[in-house]
Formats: sequence, structure tokens, C-alpha cells
Amino acid sequence: MNKQEAIYTEANNCQDCYKCIRHCPVKAIKIEDHSASIMHHLCIFCGICTSVCPAEAKIIRNDIHTANYYLHQEAPVYLSLAPSFVSDFSEWPLEKFMAACKKLGFEAVSETALGAEMLSAHLKDWIPEQKNGIYISSCCPTVVELIQKYYPEHIGKLTPFVSPVQAHARLLKKLNPNARVVFAGPCISKKTELDFPDNAVDTVLTFEELSKMFDNEGLLPELVDVSVPDHFYPKQAHNGRLYPVDGGMSNSLQPDVAQTSSSFMSFSGMATVKKLLDNMPETNGQTLFLELLACDGGCINGPGRASSGEIIQSRSAVLATNQEQEGAVLANYSAIPLAMDYQFNFIEKQPTFPEDEIREVLSSIGKMTPDDELNCGGCGYNTCRNFAQAILGGKAERQMCVSYMRKMAQNKASVLLRKMPYGVVIVDENLKVIESNELFASIWGETSQLAYDARPGLEGASIEKLTPLSRLFKNLLHSGHERIEKDLEYEGRVLHVSLFTIQKHKQVCAIVRVPGEHDVSVDELLLRLKQVVRENMQTAQKAASLIGENAANTECAINTVMDSMKGGSNA
Ligand code: SF4
Ligand code: SF4
Ligand code: SF4
Repeated sequence: MNKQEAIYTEANNCQDCYKCIRHCPVKAIKIEDHSASIMHHLCIFCGICTSVCPAEAKIIRNDIHTANYYLHQEAPVYLSLAPSFVSDFSEWPLEKFMAACKKLGFEAVSETALGAEMLSAHLKDWIPEQKNGIYISSCCPTVVELIQKYYPEHIGKLTPFVSPVQAHARLLKKLNPNARVVFAGPCISKKTELDFPDNAVDTVLTFEELSKMFDNEGLLPELVDVSVPDHFYPKQAHNGRLYPVDGGMSNSLQPDVAQTSSSFMSFSGMATVKKLLDNMPETNGQTLFLELLACDGGCINGPGRASSGEIIQSRSAVLATNQEQEGAVLANYSAIPLAMDYQFNFIEKQPTFPEDEIREVLSSIGKMTPDDELNCGGCGYNTCRNFAQAILGGKAERQMCVSYMRKMAQNKASVLLRKMPYGVVIVDENLKVIESNELFASIWGETSQLAYDARPGLEGASIEKLTPLSRLFKNLLHSGHERIEKDLEYEGRVLHVSLFTIQKHKQVCAIVRVPGEHDVSVDELLLRLKQVVRENMQTAQKAASLIGENAANTECAINTVMDSMKGGSNA
């Protein structure tokens, strides 16, 4: 069996964007060596990260090799086919689909829905016998993992039966003791059931993997011949086919247990399920059966689907396959044991950290007071406090905080500006200073110097009030030209002014020098700038990728100036 975890990270692909952390419902991902790795002991295998990662760095384990291995052995291999195949393989007429499976080497195709019906049969007897209280379906392995790992107080509420696929595999192996069973469906977390106690399934394929197996063998609906019409083994399923839609399981149970005082409710989607588990309702002397499915709308929307069709069509396709229950036929299978004890898979209680340690981390990322806590989610965590706790727990790094990175980039760029041996200012389209160095302020006399002392960097100051350069700035902003060079006289000194466009019509930069006073050669200046920029580039790029180009404007400005001056020095 493949020992790789069901979901893992391809570290080389990871772009360090934290989107998977933002969407992970249990924050089971940590940043390590610039890669978002999954902490599998905390993961509930919902597959959300595989859907949201823009870099295809979160990978679903490929079990095609394992399936092929079994298909090339002597023992017959049965395909346990999840009911939602009708929507994922809608372009395949059923008889052609079954013929294609046979061509892959499967002995027969059997409906997982039979396992669902076996489970329903057990539950119909079991629910009325229970004391009043809440019972939660154990059909969805992600919900089971969620409860085991994060809501151990609700483990006792899980119905003590295996999932439909396990029930089905037990049935197939009862009928054919030497058989192998390969499940195919839209679910990733079924792959984790392979590690459950008393697992009866040999391997799990997603529908996407099954579709790839067809592709690998060149099996297309129009190319597959059906010599002898085939049937589902050992029989066709009925209302067990409803299980993959939200509410389907409850609907298939209700007709027979309606005479009891039981109520049935269904909920799907991680956010809804978690909310419910956080605030479990009172039952008011009733038995309440909860059908909880991790995927929005049910398994028809599972992360291992082969197609990305609309959920409404998938739901309609599955509902259309439902047929009236045959009843007695299932009695043949009732002797197959389906009991399951879910008292395993616990995780250690997540550590809590003292307030002073949390505050210390918050301070280290510039959150001195609660007002500084932006709770912007850029780091992947909902709140700055959660992020601080993740840092303390070794799951996160300070550099993941966007505002911290922005400040770092700005500070470094400011240092860079201050180190320049000329007066430098960056101005926006409203002629307001974005940033300047002290040398720039000192060139224009006492008033400018005082203004700089009061507000280092002069951010927001009007260039018109500080200097006589406003006409030059206006010209450059208006024209969008790359560069203007000008000598001008100011209070008895000749100043050389070089203006550069950073962003056409939006931002310009001026370098002002007094020949004879600021005589560092252009080459030397470039050398110094390059050194500082190289040191800071990583920070600037990181900030730019997380929060857009604006945060790194000052640094970009310097690069623009450098390029421009380089051109000038070569001329
Ligand atoms: S979502 Fe972003 S951080 Fe997560 S694995 Fe993909 S690229 Fe890496
Ligand atoms: S599979 Fe789900 S729980 Fe696991 S890391 Fe991905 S998003 Fe988080
Ligand atoms: S809802 Fe269905 S597809 Fe989604 S995780 Fe649960 S069992 Fe798997």
C-alpha cells in the first residue's frame, strides 16, 4: 500500500502565499522553509487546501499504481463505485462505463450504495432502541476525523457503525473471500479509512484518478464496444444512492423510523458543521439524528471529482437514479457485522499560551495595543492573536504578517534613502511627499529642516511649500517623461536636479546635489545602492507579493533611479 499521506505538499511548487492556511478549517498547516507543509496529525483531510492552492502545491496522493498492482494480480478486483459517478461520468452510457472498467481489469462493478443500504438497515433497528439524545452519522470520514481530533466530547455521539464504503467492501469480501476491493468516488478522506481499524478496502481512487486510468488506456465512450450488456454486481442499489446528497441519508432513513420520536436533520459544509459542533443543541427529550457532511452540498461536491460541473446538476443526476427500496433483498446481508468503535485518532490537546507570551509576540510584530491588531487575515489566521499563538506553537513565522513585512520593507527602504549621499524625495501626483531624506530637507534651508525634524521623512508635506521645484515636478507628472535634468540656482548655490518618473503620472523622484559638496561618483553611488538593494530585495519582493506593489514603492523607486542613472553613466 502507498505509505504517502493522502494529501501532501509539493514543496517546490509552494509560493508561500498562505491561502491554504486561510482556508484550512483546523489550521493544520505550518510554514517551514518557505513551504506550507501539512501537519498530518492535525489534518482532517477535507481537501479544501487542494482546491484553493493557486500553485498546485497541495497534492492528493495518487493511488493508481496501487490499483493497477492489484489489477495485475490473480485475485479478482471489484470496483466499489460511489453513487455520484452519474454526474462525474455523465458522458458515459452506463453499459459503456462498465465495459471500460472491465477493460481496466476489474472483475465487476458494484454500487457502494449497497453498503449505504446495509448501514441504513442497521440504523433503522438501532436508532429506535437508543436513549433520547443526539446521534451523529459516521458516514463522512472528514467529519469523523474532525470530531475525533477537535471535538472529543462528541465522539460518543457518533453512530457506532462503519461507513458505507467499508460496509460494501465487507459485503463484497463476504461474497468473494479472495477478492480485492477498490473504491472510486469524489472523496479524498476515504483514503484515510485505509488506516482505520478493521479496514476492508484495498485502495481508494478519486473519480479524477479513475478518469485518468481510462485516459491512460485510451478508453473513450465512443471507442468502447459493449459486446455483452453488463449489470451491477451482485445487484442494483436503490435509495442508498441518495447518500451523497445533503439530506439523502436522512431521507432514506425517515420512512421507517418516523413512527419513533426521532428527528432527522442534515448539514453540510465545514463552516456549518463546525458551528453546529461548537453549539450542540438541546434535544428536549427527543432523539436527534444528525447527518453531517464536510463538503458543501454533500459528496457530490467532493474534492476528488472528475468534473467541475454545477452542484445543482450533480444533485439532480443523483436524485434521478433513486429507485424505490426493494426491502427484503437486503436481509441477506444483515448478518455482516458493521460495528465500529471510534475511540481512536485522538490528538494531544493543543497548547494554550499565557497572555504575557501572546502580548510579547504581538509586540514583536508591531502590535503594541489592541488597536494595532488589524485582523486582516493576510497571514492566514483570522486574528492577530490566533497568529501570535500559531507562532508560539511553532506553526507560523513573523514574516507571514503582512503589516509587519510592510513596516520592515519601509524601514529598510528608509534606511536606504538616508544612506544616499544626495538629497532625495519621492512625490505623488498631488505634489505631496511620500518620503525624503534629511539631506533633501537641509538643501532648502531652515524651514524645511525644521519640518523634517518635526516629521522625519516629510510624509504628506507639500512640495510646493518646501521647495521651488514644483513646476519641474508638475511637468514630469504631466508629460510622463522618463527623466528631466536641470541646473538651477538657489540662495547663491547651483543645484543639479535629476527628476525620474517612477510610475507614469503618479509618482516621481528627485535627486538634488550641490556640485562640489555632494560629489560621490555615479558609479560609486550605484555600487552602494546595489549593495543595499540586494540586501533588501528579498523583503521587498515578499512584501510586494503579499500586499501589492505599493508597499515596496520606495525600494522600487530606488531601483528605477538606479536603472536610470546607470543609463546616464553609460552614455
Ligand atoms: S496555497 Fe500558497 S502557501 Fe499554500 S501550498 Fe499553495 S502556494 Fe503554498
Ligand atoms: S486537507 Fe483540510 S484539514 Fe488538511 S491541511 Fe488541507 S485544508 Fe487543512
Ligand atoms: S462529504 Fe463526502 S466527499 Fe466530502 S469529505 Fe465527507 S464523505 Fe468525503
